[in-house]
Amino acid sequence: MKNSTQCPKCESVDIMQINGLIGQTQTTLNLISISSSEGVAVTRYVCSDCGYSEEWIVGKNLKKLKKKYRK
Ligand SMILES: [Zn+2]
Repeated sequence: MKNSTQCPKCESVDIMQINGLIGQTQTTLNLISISSSEGVAVTRYVCSDCGYSEEWIVGKNLKKLKKKYRK
């Protein structure tokens, strides 16, 4: 959905992008922890018709995650 902007399940184009950033309300907070004090934000794409969702790590957050978890 990040790349096609269309839901793969129901083909709706009504996609919401929800950024999991620090400082936003708890309902939108979505993080993967990389240390006791730091996490990277996960961006969610949600189809507003059927509810299907995808999660993506983008930009510099992906680099941080790689540094921490890549074998
Ligand atoms: Zn859908």
